[in-house]
Amino acid sequence: MIANQEEKLRLYAQLLVHVGMNVQPKQRVYIRAMVEAAEFVHLVVEEAYKAGSEDVKVSYGDDRLAQLNLQYRPQEAFESVPQYVVDERMDYAKDGAAQLALISSSPENLKDADPDKVSAMMRANGNAFREYMRMMQSDQFAWTVAAYPSKAWAKLVFPDLSEEEAVDKLLDLMLYTVRANEQDPVKAWQDHNHTLHLKADYLNKKAYKALKYSAPGTDLTIGLPEGHIWCGASSVSAAGVEFMANMPTEEVFTVPHQDQVNGTVRNSLPLSYGGNIIDNFSLTFKDGKVVDYHAEVGHDILKGLLESDENAVQLGEVALVPHDSPISNSQTLFYNTLFDENASCHLALGSAYPFCLEGGKEMSDAELDAAGLNQSITHEDFMIGNAEMNISGITAEGHEEPIFINGNWAF
Ligand code: ZN
Ligand code: ZN
Repeated sequence: MIANQEEKLRLYAQLLVHVGMNVQPKQRVYIRAMVEAAEFVHLVVEEAYKAGSEDVKVSYGDDRLAQLNLQYRPQEAFESVPQYVVDERMDYAKDGAAQLALISSSPENLKDADPDKVSAMMRANGNAFREYMRMMQSDQFAWTVAAYPSKAWAKLVFPDLSEEEAVDKLLDLMLYTVRANEQDPVKAWQDHNHTLHLKADYLNKKAYKALKYSAPGTDLTIGLPEGHIWCGASSVSAAGVEFMANMPTEEVFTVPHQDQVNGTVRNSLPLSYGGNIIDNFSLTFKDGKVVDYHAEVGHDILKGLLESDENAVQLGEVALVPHDSPISNSQTLFYNTLFDENASCHLALGSAYPFCLEGGKEMSDAELDAAGLNQSITHEDFMIGNAEMNISGITAEGHEEPIFINGNWAF
């Protein structure tokens, strides 16, 4: 355990409240977390009240309960989500409450569960929270995704350590990745935010028509829609409040054109999805759609993901992350997208963020679709970047310019 762990956790809680959600006086707060993280959640709740919130609601989940439910409930039980569960979260969302999703689940918590039930559950969740996702993806409220380690997760990352040592080590790493161990964490985030916005500004001025990826097993072209916006680090909510959607975050990202993806891409890090791991997989695209796929690990889970709905076979995000980044340099595989996506260039299957398109936040579904933005009940990032990846941008005149050389920024 590092010195002043308690102090660092307090700093982390303050970061989530002031930099992440940026809780405003009188604002309501909705937190989703796992029971294992309760002690830390109490710190976050206290900081949120100190920031002036008048109603901080915590909705707890439990990995063991999830396993038991999947073991004993019949298939039909996973085909829908009770309306009151949806209503609770929507009540806060419609009220502009700040939202925190604190991830702790073991990345393979559901590996022994029936894949059909898992797929049905993920699909039902996607459908039930479609409106919530739409509001979130257009920044109707401030939202933050962050993490706190559970024992099972820590043991998966550090199998050779004791449970307690593993949790301490994973927690230390998480605090490092969110800059909670810097002298002035808030200042560190301001600097980091500035750096990422500079990269996004450069790409926005270039307004490339397409990106070309090459790496071992990857030869892919991704068209970018007219009016696409590269984003990074902080976002601004409908109420005009700056917030950080992911902590940590190292990515600069935009929307791909849903019909202009061609070629093959291979994953570079395992993907944990629905409590299962998918690895050593490749996807082949034609005119935007996955037309062929293979996975050595988790093939059925990947199949379930691609069949979430008819648009889950199309891309909704393209993100650039240098191979030389804090998370990547920690040489730790977290088996969790929040961390692994920030160690590697990645793409997402599923819906595209409307805020990555000029005027997108105000567009109807039909308008977004016409502009080339995919819409789906799923949005799942998967990692494709490595030290051998080259990416170039294609200009309006058809010239090719380097964006990434050997896994790192070319500018
Ligand atoms: Zn991403
Ligand atoms: Zn994403």
